[in-house]
Amino acid sequence: MMLNIANIWNIIKVMGCQSMKMSQTWTKRLMHNTPKAVIVLSALSLSMNLANSVSSFLGYAFALAFAGLIFAAIIVNPLWLKYVMAAAAYIAFFNTLPELSFDKLISVIYLSLVLLAFLLPSPIPVIITTCYYLYFIPTYSSVVEGEMIRTIVIGVIINMILYSLLAFYFRNLKKENEINRKLNGQLNEAFGKLEHMAYYDTLTKLPNRELLKKRMVEQLFSDSKVAVLFLDLDHFKNVNDMMGHNAGDQMLQHVAAHLTEEVGHCCFIARYAGDEFVLLFPYQVQEEIGELAKHLIHSFHMPFQIEQKHIYTTPSIGISLYPGDSRDVDTLIQYADKAMYDVKRGEKNGFCFFSAIENEELLLQIKLENDLRSALSKEEFVIHYQPLVEMSTGEIRGFEALVRWTHPELGQIMPGAFIPLAEQTGVIVELGEWVLEEACKQVRSWQRAGNPNLTLAVNISIRQFKSSCFESTVLRILKKTGFDPSLLELEVTESMMQNLSEMSLILGELKRRGVKISIDDFGTGYSSLSVLRHLPVDFLKIDRSFTRELTADTSTASIIKLIVDIGHSINLEVICEGIENQEEMDFLLQYGCRLGQGFYFHRPASADEIGSLLSSKDSQGKIAN
Ligand code: C2E
Ligand code: MG
Ligand code: MG
Repeated sequence: MMLNIANIWNIIKVMGCQSMKMSQTWTKRLMHNTPKAVIVLSALSLSMNLANSVSSFLGYAFALAFAGLIFAAIIVNPLWLKYVMAAAAYIAFFNTLPELSFDKLISVIYLSLVLLAFLLPSPIPVIITTCYYLYFIPTYSSVVEGEMIRTIVIGVIINMILYSLLAFYFRNLKKENEINRKLNGQLNEAFGKLEHMAYYDTLTKLPNRELLKKRMVEQLFSDSKVAVLFLDLDHFKNVNDMMGHNAGDQMLQHVAAHLTEEVGHCCFIARYAGDEFVLLFPYQVQEEIGELAKHLIHSFHMPFQIEQKHIYTTPSIGISLYPGDSRDVDTLIQYADKAMYDVKRGEKNGFCFFSAIENEELLLQIKLENDLRSALSKEEFVIHYQPLVEMSTGEIRGFEALVRWTHPELGQIMPGAFIPLAEQTGVIVELGEWVLEEACKQVRSWQRAGNPNLTLAVNISIRQFKSSCFESTVLRILKKTGFDPSLLELEVTESMMQNLSEMSLILGELKRRGVKISIDDFGTGYSSLSVLRHLPVDFLKIDRSFTRELTADTSTASIIKLIVDIGHSINLEVICEGIENQEEMDFLLQYGCRLGQGFYFHRPASADEIGSLLSSKDSQGKIAN
């Protein structure tokens, strides 16, 4: 019942509002059109008055001329022409006056002043016309009493003042209207621009994420079937890292233009974020989507010209379907994104439909992402340490800190499963700081316990590296833990080393304090030797994928030898990762590689296990001192 009354009240309010709005618009229209109506009516009645009052042929001719000219003056637009026409009309009008009776004269006097006041935006025509009346009225003194003439003259003067003020008022009103119109125009333009800014991406000029979602809501409410294509550029990060952000921006602009040209006619294209684009494609049968995706992938076979260089890029596309996969906008995007990641995990440069079976994996991913945020405060992370070994003697030279996550439900999770998530969510900055501090503390305690030269290698992610206070954080931790900076090695990846100037700047102070830098997973990214020569790098860590092939593939063996030789020639120490058997170690020793890390020597182990290992090794003299 209450609900019904509330509903009725709402309906009344809505109707009330609507009728208020309607009456407001009608009042506005009426006010806007009143001057026009007054002009037309007074011109009409003045013309009819004259036609009724004149009797000679000439009088009719002037009355007709007045009617024609005054309506022309009403219609014409340039103001000067309006004045000319009105002046001509009034000359004709004055010529009819001698034929008018005194009564008629009085009625036309007021009408003519009203007409002028409304028609011309100036009091001067009213004043001139009144002056003419003041000169003309006394000519009636032979037929009208002097008293009457005086009264009329006074009336005319008062009217002149009133109508002059009215004309003056109208002039200002017109000016104000003009200004308002201009302001309205500017406001509309500004609103348009604001709306554009809110809904379009400034870099690529494509619709942004907001407009995409708005459009999806609109489109999904209609009955059509829509495919959501989530397109991400493969290795775009390398363009940014190697050629700088300007080139990256240009690349995105080229890609946006390319997409518009290729599929703009059938798809709604939006820039979702970074190098991610979302396309909405209304379809009839699923084959059409496959065709479209293939066409898109094929269309990227041509290079983009950026800063006089030909740069190739390829897209990975994930697809979700409305209404099949979901009816919810965010879920559809999330599913398409997930499918895109499946492509990335595989070969890249392909397309893939979202599979509901994999939804569970996605849910797990979402769960991990959520749990990750609180894992640090819940102290769920632990650090394992893997020894770095002097291969010829088996001596432990130092340790690499490798983080593990002990999830309360899922057990131990390896970094490969959560570091990318931590990077995506930004948790890595805090986590990395924790790892560094914790590992410094731990290794420092082993150093104090009789192994003073033990080194510590810590993995640093690009997100950490780019965080504003990276350098000061490292220095603070070194100071707090009393760790010797020259025994600390920061492991960065090759792609992070491409931006030479930025890298040198961030590392400058750390290097001055003696901190070492090593390039991790060397050989898997893009490195140019000149980059290595110019950067303050101390170690190269050959990726374990090379070590794995070392004994089976002669070309891999030659590559490793080459890397070791080049490293030594530019004074870099080369470390080989992932050594799993003696054969591999023998090869590497033969090639001149001194330092190694791998299961053959030691698996990563907890601090306690390493503590025991150290004390047993200590007794055997197997630790570098
Ligand atoms: P990484 O820095 O290249 O670390 C070496 C990885 O190789 C470790 O995997 C280690 O357990 C594994 N490994 C060592 N020797 C062998 C071997 O003989 N055979 C095989 N098959 N594997 C070996 P893990 O601990 O799973 O770490 C994987 C990656 O996760 C690391 O690769 C590193 O990039 C990243 N990571 C680990 N901890 C952190 C961290 O605290 N911060 C950051 N940013 N990344 C981390
Ligand atoms: Mg590493
Ligand atoms: Mg590595």
